[in-house]
Amino acid sequence: NPLAPSAAFVTSVKSIVAQEVVDTAAIQQLDTAHYMHPFTDHKALGEKGARVMVRGDGIYLWDSEGKKIVDGMSGLWCVNVGYGRHSISQAVYQQMETLPFYNSFFNTTNVPAVKLATKLAEIAPAGLNHVFFTGSGSEGNDTNVRMVRRYWDVLGHKDKHTIISRHNAYHGSTMAGASLGGMEGMHAQGGLPIPGIVHIGQPNYLESGRGMTEDEFGIEAASWLEKKILEVGVEKVAAFIGEPVQGAGGVIIPPKTYWPEIQRICDKYGILLIADEVICGFGRLGTWFASELFGIKPDLITFAKGVTSGYVPLGGVLVGDRVAKVLIEQGGEFNHGFTYSGHPVACAAALENIRIIEDEELVQRVANETGPYLNKRFAELADHPLVGYANSCGFVAGLNLVRKKAAVVHDHEAFDEALAVGMVCRGYMFNNGMIMRAVGDRMIIAPPLVMTTAQIDEMIALIRHCLDLTYADVQ
Ligand code: PLP
Repeated sequence: NPLAPSAAFVTSVKSIVAQEVVDTAAIQQLDTAHYMHPFTDHKALGEKGARVMVRGDGIYLWDSEGKKIVDGMSGLWCVNVGYGRHSISQAVYQQMETLPFYNSFFNTTNVPAVKLATKLAEIAPAGLNHVFFTGSGSEGNDTNVRMVRRYWDVLGHKDKHTIISRHNAYHGSTMAGASLGGMEGMHAQGGLPIPGIVHIGQPNYLESGRGMTEDEFGIEAASWLEKKILEVGVEKVAAFIGEPVQGAGGVIIPPKTYWPEIQRICDKYGILLIADEVICGFGRLGTWFASELFGIKPDLITFAKGVTSGYVPLGGVLVGDRVAKVLIEQGGEFNHGFTYSGHPVACAAALENIRIIEDEELVQRVANETGPYLNKRFAELADHPLVGYANSCGFVAGLNLVRKKAAVVHDHEAFDEALAVGMVCRGYMFNNGMIMRAVGDRMIIAPPLVMTTAQIDEMIALIRHCLDLTYADVQ
């Protein structure tokens, strides 16, 4: 291709970037002066100064001080194929040179968007044959709200607008995304949720499963959906939305009885099921989509993050035949869309990203090799005196830090919240070259899907070392 940069050019750019000396203090000063970060206490950040990330390769990051870090969080649950993928940057470069942008409004389309929609329909669970593109997961969930309400309107049910979600869910930061989410801290800022969105409890066995087996608790937690449908009135309920495994809420892996029961209840009352797979999609749990793993048939699937491995922003909704048929055949114009819906550059990045996932068999590797190995190695951490519970599913995992362990998980003694032990532990991880996120006192990871078994060993050793440091500190 005459537009492709030469290998020599690419190597020289890479070496310039690698050698570039970043003045950390100067960047931090400008950062504090001008950059408002997402989900950040700026006064506290200003006192410490942000860590400046400058480079990534595979599962590793380097900061401006030259420190190498294992990225246990795949950026923000998204860099599934790892950093430094030249073929993605080349696909992006070529698309930018050819057609950097055109919209999909007004009866126009573009080649990468059509190819990607076709590819997504191929890898999606059966019956999801259409795609609506957005720029992010939040916009995907806003699209879901618009779409399910429109669906019921077209069918003549103008009052069927309520969407049931769950406490401690995360569905994004737009007004509808934050409302669908069940994060109290977000609702408290800005008068949320917006009308027509209600919440039920989450399937968190540690929190609410005392006295029950996990399977019994799964059925119990699903029954809260039926109760809520009857309380609101089935004539008013449009849909239920849930993350197959809650991510930002702390990697809450539901009992295996939960999702089939949720599906049964949705079917019984004829309400739509939305799976928010922004984290779980694109191989993270060892299947292309987690809906396959949990045996559910959602009407709509939200996706983002792993679709491009975060290289370029892209999100959207996979639309099932039930909804697509009504919107397309009876709905006329759907008054909804974004400038960047079907952005050709983002779609080109996604196509190359998916090609890599297929070529390197990353989904199969997580299912059969690296996922089970991570599961085994991560579970071993439960023998640490600080760790009360450690579990994983594919390439997401979490462990709970406890003051004192008991024979039954529900009897473990928690740390005083004011001690913020999770944040203490996160600090040790960060300073010792490991990114692990803290949600209260639950420490979580979601590593790049390219992580090898040897790198899993390296990561587990780092985590254990930092648990030791935390233990010595909080005793
Ligand atoms: N849904 C889930 C399950 C998420 O985890 C996220 C982001 O973390 C979102 C939606 C929002 O996606 P975005 O940040 O791309 O708007």
